Amino acid sequence: MTTAIRTDYEIVVGVEVHCQLKTRSKMFCSCERDYFDTPPNTHVCPVCLGAPGVLPVINRQAVRLTILTGLAMGCEIPAESKFDRKNYPYPDLVKGYQISQFDQPLCMGGIVEIELDGVTKTIRLERIHLEEDTARLLHRDDGAEPYSLLDVNRSGVPLMEMVSQPDLRSGAETAAFLRKLRQTLRYLDVSDADMDKGSFRFDVNISLRPVGQETLGTKVELKNMNSFRSAQRAVEFEVERQTAILDSGGRVVQETRGYVDATGETASQRSKEEAHDYRYFPEPDLPPLRIAREEVAALRATLPELPDAKRARFQQKYGLTPDEAAALAETRERADAFEQAVRLVGDAARGRAVAHWFMGDVARLLHAGEGEVELSDSRLTPGHIAELVRLVEDRTVTANTAKEVLEAAFESGEMPSAIVEARGLRQVNDAGAIDDVARRVIEANAKAVDDYRGGKDSAIKFLVGQVMREMRGRANPQSATDALRAHLDGDA
Ligand SMILES: [Zn+2]
Repeated sequence: MTTAIRTDYEIVVGVEVHCQLKTRSKMFCSCERDYFDTPPNTHVCPVCLGAPGVLPVINRQAVRLTILTGLAMGCEIPAESKFDRKNYPYPDLVKGYQISQFDQPLCMGGIVEIELDGVTKTIRLERIHLEEDTARLLHRDDGAEPYSLLDVNRSGVPLMEMVSQPDLRSGAETAAFLRKLRQTLRYLDVSDADMDKGSFRFDVNISLRPVGQETLGTKVELKNMNSFRSAQRAVEFEVERQTAILDSGGRVVQETRGYVDATGETASQRSKEEAHDYRYFPEPDLPPLRIAREEVAALRATLPELPDAKRARFQQKYGLTPDEAAALAETRERADAFEQAVRLVGDAARGRAVAHWFMGDVARLLHAGEGEVELSDSRLTPGHIAELVRLVEDRTVTANTAKEVLEAAFESGEMPSAIVEARGLRQVNDAGAIDDVARRVIEANAKAVDDYRGGKDSAIKFLVGQVMREMRGRANPQSATDALRAHLDGDA
């Protein structure tokens, strides 16, 4: 389907993101929070099983991580907050209700800045609140009839929900917003934010309205997306679908739709008629929370340097381009490894040389297996990169040899200087030795020599290449060029 997207509708997208917080224990009990790779129903107790008569206790660390996130996004932190019961029947909700926050969330407002094609845009947040995750249904289809099993390990895991205002205007903006949000959560180290493990999940609401109209159109909620790319494609598909409906005079039905990766299309899951009235009321088993200003100030003081600030500083301090700075500040770990290498080189002015290693050959080696890989996933350390930079700059090895040394270090973990010594890779700067080879190359390549003397200056490159080959890449390229020119131009 390649219907052209009309421009007389405005695309309105809002996002709700759920992210599991990186605490030690669950939200309201002392069960271990991390359930990934654990047998089902092993991290459970009467509280997270929802047994009658038990009392929940608020996880202080989960509250702190939520407030820290709010501070990073410029939210207001109200002095008082409370928990509420959200009632709905579902097989994965063991208590029959979820403890969430209704009208007094921990964080109000806030913003996330996204950048697309060099243009910065501010997306407003409505709120950030704290709740508990549900249990998990494991669907099986290995018997006469399909059935479902219940794993309660996830029940009660601290879940932070971030709700955006409907400020996004395209699939690309939606994906950029989600990426930026996840990047920030990882910088803050409040969550693994791992989509494969389900610790970062999102719903996307999308509607269209005629340009200039104030009221929002009928929205469709998209669920079950497992990548940023799916989010972008799902929004783009919905824009086409809803445009076609509106253009033909129809009405968009308010419903929940799922995105099907295989087809790149969305499909109806349930209509609004089946939506629940949650009958929120204040959680009777938990007291309201008073958030001391001193505690908020203390948390603010622990905020790390965030991605935008880091990018700006990298550009300014190391003379990097915006793209280079963005690539190195992509993760906090990569940024730290880069800066450690620069420190080991001992000169911020050579940050650019360090950056080129990280973004060029090192990135190529790390991504050979695809996925998100950092230096620490390999045998390389910032010390390896720093040593390579020094070996090239003090002309111990040529740039080409350095690449070979890097690959050897990547395989073995050996330090570059040790590899250079063991393999005899030192650059030859000895003018006499280079001169001898240059003379031999000139004698053996009459055609290229004639070309050069006939005014074809590029022939010199071929001759330099021959010298390098003779010397197994270890000749200083400038010395080789100088030696050749001295003979060729001198004899002319
Ligand atoms: Zn428990």
